[in-house]
Amino acid sequence: MLLGPPGAGKGTMAALISDCAGLSVFVTGDVLRSEIERESELGLSIKEDVEAGRLVDDKTILALVKDFLANHKEGVIFDGFPRTVNQARGLRSLISSQDELRVVYLDVGTETILARLGARRVCPECGSIYNLRFSPPARDLVCDKCNTKLIRRKDDTDEVIRQRIGVYERRTAPLIDYFSDVLIKVDGNGTPSEVFETVRGELCPG
Ligand SMILES: [Zn+2]
Repeated sequence: MLLGPPGAGKGTMAALISDCAGLSVFVTGDVLRSEIERESELGLSIKEDVEAGRLVDDKTILALVKDFLANHKEGVIFDGFPRTVNQARGLRSLISSQDELRVVYLDVGTETILARLGARRVCPECGSIYNLRFSPPARDLVCDKCNTKLIRRKDDTDEVIRQRIGVYERRTAPLIDYFSDVLIKVDGNGTPSEVFETVRGELCPG
């Protein structure tokens, strides 16, 4: 699993590790958003919390995780889960072999987070992610792949970003200690390829 504050680069690393290790990615935010888009009973019940940057209750998240694990026996990368010590205990009760659990902690500073997330834009059509400072689209605010006008996600506004960092510090940062027996700490302040060089050495040998 990947651990780190919002904007640490967990999503980017999850995709790269998925490629080199052949594992499926569980992206909590994506799973939740897809429930909201489908307007499932679960989706409607969590819509308000997700859009305000608040955490969704553990029971709901663990039910989604259990389903995903059952459907991906080859192994799973968790991005954005667990977010609380309670969820982490839930995860440990769901996996059969504790030995197989590795936790990559991406360590980044608040300034890096604000710079990255404040400049993030997404394509509402194909889901491509851009950063106006580090990886801008070829033409102003238009998706390179499908020509759709890019938008700022509702949970990427400065106010919500600071709120998310606060929630992370209070509720998720304690996991760094909780997982100390399986923790791989990585400096996450570099470019994605710099950070991945370190991660690859740990998780994708050969
Ligand atoms: Zn697009």
